[in-house]
Amino acid sequence: MVSIPQAWCNAIPALGVTLAPDLPSPRSAPSGITLQIPPSLVRQELTREPSVPIPPAVLERYRQWRPTPLVRAHQLESALGTGCRLYYKYEGGNISGSHKLNTAVAQAYYYHRAGATYLTVGTGAGQWGTAVAAACAMFGMKCRVYMVRSSYEAKPHRRTIMEMLGATVIVSPSSRTAVGRAELHDRPDSTGSLSLALAEALEDTAEPGTLFCTGSGETYSLLHQTVIGLEAQEQLAELGDRADVVIGSLGGGSNFGGLALPFLGAAALGGPAVRCVSVESMACPKLTRGHFAYDFTDASGLAPLQKMYTLGHSFAPPSMHAGGLRYHGTAKLISALYDEGSIDAAAYSQRDVFGSAVLFARTEGTTPAPESAHAIHGATMVAAAADRQGVSRAVVFGVSGHGMFDMAAYRSYLDGTMVDSIVSDEAIARSLADLPPQPAEITSR
Ligand SMILES: *Cc1c(COP(=O)(O)O)cnc(C)c1O
Repeated sequence: MVSIPQAWCNAIPALGVTLAPDLPSPRSAPSGITLQIPPSLVRQELTREPSVPIPPAVLERYRQWRPTPLVRAHQLESALGTGCRLYYKYEGGNISGSHKLNTAVAQAYYYHRAGATYLTVGTGAGQWGTAVAAACAMFGMKCRVYMVRSSYEAKPHRRTIMEMLGATVIVSPSSRTAVGRAELHDRPDSTGSLSLALAEALEDTAEPGTLFCTGSGETYSLLHQTVIGLEAQEQLAELGDRADVVIGSLGGGSNFGGLALPFLGAAALGGPAVRCVSVESMACPKLTRGHFAYDFTDASGLAPLQKMYTLGHSFAPPSMHAGGLRYHGTAKLISALYDEGSIDAAAYSQRDVFGSAVLFARTEGTTPAPESAHAIHGATMVAAAADRQGVSRAVVFGVSGHGMFDMAAYRSYLDGTMVDSIVSDEAIARSLADLPPQPAEITSR
């Protein structure tokens, strides 16, 4: 029997990768707004220890849904006629419906210990909001979720589950915050964006005990998610196999990082070589078409600047069903690894991805989230390439969540009304032109 890891895996020392330091935002915050991250999380962000023990209170929660299954996708293999061994790690079996609860629980635990009684969050598709709502319920904290209007309207059940968990859900842009009011003034019909929802949640922390809970791009989020990859390594060993290729979808970066980092770390320490592929949407192609530069993480630009692969903080992805992949930037660690060539990236179109999602549902008996379907499609592409070369590879991919709230997306795929939403070069050039001054420019002024 595979056990739950007792410690998270910090692959940074093994990989010898250096992250550029964050820079203070050049925009000054209206008084009262600060980004307060509990000291324990700041220490995890910077630690050089190769492993970080999981607190007993967090482990106790993990036991409710971990270890998660690693499944050999035999039926998908035969449908594809591939000679590869395909394995998927399934994270959809908890109340949030995705991997996000792995870090939400840990973050809620540390915020609670730091004295927080209320957490505010911004959510796009609703998965992060649901995860933090669930985690707050576990530790007796209150939760206020700013949810992007377009998904608030498209996914009413997401709101219901968050309210069921005791959270208050506010549609973003809202009139509760200055940044929301400004957006409503400029664009009364605004359907919102993740960076705006984040900015609203960050602003709405004036009451004592209220703190803003960031999301899935911070290095500590990636650390918490390594339970996924650590379990997968042990499960593969139990099955007598090892991974040649590891594939995960990329939103902020914690899903891909959580699966891939333990494998990359082991390879760097002399273990078996592994190729890791991050899969993004052609509607939000930050690794494949973005720049490696300092950028804002939210629309107000009050949080520190991070050096990352970004499409620019003003990038507005075209409408797409994988809401969890719409963030304009990429975790610093994933960005640095991509920049040095340690990982690969691919971007796929929505219709291709849903084709693979439907095949997966029919063959494997699990409805994948649209985000997860990107990794599934990536796995079918890697398998096809290996077959053409006449080699058999072990391919491990992350099915990061279930798609039971995404029936409108599946409906449009089946009806043939789904569009591909590929962004133009002009749109990317326009938002990249909005990048803040870079350090070289700042110091030479
Ligand atoms: C959020 C989400 C992703 C992307 O995860 P990140 O950790 O933000 O990279 C992938 N799959 C599902 C189901 C998600 O909810």
